[in-house]
Amino acid sequence: MKFGGTSVATIERIKNVAQHVKREIEAGYDVAVVVSAMSGKTNELVGWCKEAAPLHDPREYDAVVASGEQVTTGLLAIALQAIGIKARSWQGWQVPFETDDAHGSARIQKIDGTRMLESFARDREVAVVAGFQGIHAPSGRLTTLGRGGSDTSAVALAAALQAERCDIYTDVDGVYTTDPRIVSKARRLDRVAFEEMLEMASLGAKVLQVRSVELAMVHNVRTFVRSSFDNPAQPMPGTLICAEEDIMEQPVVTGIAYSKDEAQITLREVADKPGVAAAVFEPLAAASIVVDMIVQNVSADGATTDITFTVPSADYARAMDVIEKRKAEIGYKLVQSAQEVAKISAIGVGMRSHAGVAAKAFKALAERGINIRAITTSEIKFSVLIDVAYTELAVRTLHSLYGLDAA
Ligand code: ADP
Ligand code: ASP
Ligand code: MG
Repeated sequence: MKFGGTSVATIERIKNVAQHVKREIEAGYDVAVVVSAMSGKTNELVGWCKEAAPLHDPREYDAVVASGEQVTTGLLAIALQAIGIKARSWQGWQVPFETDDAHGSARIQKIDGTRMLESFARDREVAVVAGFQGIHAPSGRLTTLGRGGSDTSAVALAAALQAERCDIYTDVDGVYTTDPRIVSKARRLDRVAFEEMLEMASLGAKVLQVRSVELAMVHNVRTFVRSSFDNPAQPMPGTLICAEEDIMEQPVVTGIAYSKDEAQITLREVADKPGVAAAVFEPLAAASIVVDMIVQNVSADGATTDITFTVPSADYARAMDVIEKRKAEIGYKLVQSAQEVAKISAIGVGMRSHAGVAAKAFKALAERGINIRAITTSEIKFSVLIDVAYTELAVRTLHSLYGLDAA
């Protein structure tokens, strides 16, 4: 079981979580519970690091931001003990969750569940585990898995323990056709295919961290998304993330996602000759900046062209710095940029076998006066970049267009 920030936001809610755990214990399961920090806590800790020094040691950032989860593990163990359930807290390093040393976005390499399994067998003690954190064993330093990382902690632990299920409890009762906070007509899905969930998560639906979906797919972990606000005695089953073959009826579009964390950069009058794209994108890659959409025009005069691309907002300043420093090598006339942009995406495995899915969207957006700045497509999704002010309108438009609105 995994409980996110809003589910453990207060002592009252932690007591409610204890009731959910109790139900599973009474049903005969041994339980490992992964918890996040109380909602808002991690943001506060990140803010403190930035305030202390904008460019800080990432190892110390991890030492600070991992602390939120330490608090909730202890509190939940206390709440469980108070209702007569044996429980203890486990920090990442105690399990241990061994990771690489990419501080701030570490990847789990190995989880040794031996001692936890022994404590289940010995006295059915509930393991309350700190999400989001691990240890880089060679250096002995704390690490964290990137924002939203407790989802990944939970799925990875479920795989290591060969758990029957991994239930991700959050503040909505499943995965919806789009973010239910911005579209009131969003519908809850009973099942979502791994590939679709991967796309939805990486295109902005923060309900699951992308890496957790990858792990669930690779290790075939039965993962459900469900609500901690349901009655602990009779919770709803939530949404199952499963293989495509396990879904009977497959609509063309399953969901709409959006992301406001993008910035657009355009290079004007770049020479139209071999090697120019490499001159632009190699230095960005060397700076570990992930470029997403790329648009290059056919040259009108045979001599120069324009290249447009997007980068994560967080990397915008660094990307501009790289591009400006390389001006001579790349040889462009002018650089233009826009930060007030959003990426809207439609996702569905049904797109593989249907023509004209994206074309319909372009027409509907045009009818509402929404200008498209860039487009990308792949087998099971397409994305458009638009002005951020139109985000909600565009999401709602596509949601209705593909018949996803609740009746
Ligand atoms: P937690 O703190 O439990 O990890 P998150 O805030 O990380 O919770 O994720 C849950 C939120 O994800 C929901 O409150 C919802 O606003 C948002 N969300 C975005 N897209 C979707 C979607 N397609 N289905 C469900 N929730 C979504
Ligand atoms: N507390 C961490 C965060 O806010 C991890 C998580 O909640 O999943 O990113
Ligand atoms: Mg989350």
